[in-house]
Amino acid sequence: MGSVSLVSAALRRLEGKVALITGGSSGIGESTARLFVKHGAKVVIADIQDELGHSVCKELEPEPASFIHCDVTQEKDVENAVNTAVSKYGKLDIMFNNAGIGGTPKTNILENDKAEFEKIICVNLVGAFLGTKHAARVMIPARRGSIITTASVCAIIGGGLSHAYTSSKHGVLGLTRNTAVELGHYGIRVNCVSPYAVPTPLFKNFFKMNDDELKCIYSNLKGAVLQAEDIAEAALYLGSDESKYVSGHNLVVDGGFTIVNRGFC
Ligand code: NAD
Repeated sequence: MGSVSLVSAALRRLEGKVALITGGSSGIGESTARLFVKHGAKVVIADIQDELGHSVCKELEPEPASFIHCDVTQEKDVENAVNTAVSKYGKLDIMFNNAGIGGTPKTNILENDKAEFEKIICVNLVGAFLGTKHAARVMIPARRGSIITTASVCAIIGGGLSHAYTSSKHGVLGLTRNTAVELGHYGIRVNCVSPYAVPTPLFKNFFKMNDDELKCIYSNLKGAVLQAEDIAEAALYLGSDESKYVSGHNLVVDGGFTIVNRGFC
């Protein structure tokens, strides 16, 4: 093998791996699907936005990428998505529990109702639980795997978004730590990635800010704006063998925001 092929092989950091990405039709999940495929992975996108998901997969052709309708709050859907990855591509190496919702921006607990709280917990936390559970089901016999969940800076600080969102992301951190201990015995690593503000549909719908107002969000990054691709890079590291000794970790991608912690504006 010549040096050129050695270099290109080294650049494909997920060669031969199979990944399932929930919430892969948009934002961080979509960018991650594109990056994973570029690095040699076969990808299954699982989402409730079917049309978008199919069109992302179409753009990835001729690389192996498939879409499956999956509501992460429904155990049968999640089970089916995991089974689809295994039946289509033979195994599951990387589970990316990324689907999530922001809910409403109410920060006054007296204005928050139970139904809204439960809805956010159900998608963000129960969805991650179901993804972790069903990924573990097929990873345990294989004695390998990497499970990654998108948490948030709201997993480590309060006052960012609503009580429900903050609670759901703190819960994701707990889920990650507990399953990292439990599944480590089987060679399965469990981590999460915690982004700061990324201008995806979720973020824009939540804050309804114009571009000038958006800029103040990024004041701690000295004018730089985090993009979905930056979070995908973190997921790529956690999914690849380069992180083979990293488990139970929360990879915070926030340009130092939580160290300074001056609030959102
Ligand atoms: P996004 O809205 O662009 O993408 C979220 C995706 O999740 C969408 O494709 C949506 O259809 C899907 N989804 C929602 N509910 C679902 C369900 N029940 N079942 C399956 N799929 C579902 O937003 P994003 O910012 O890319 O969000 C991805 C993750 O990143 C979320 O978990 C979010 O909480 C987290 N996050 C985002 C930010 C940010 O600033 N954008 C910051 C920290 C964490």
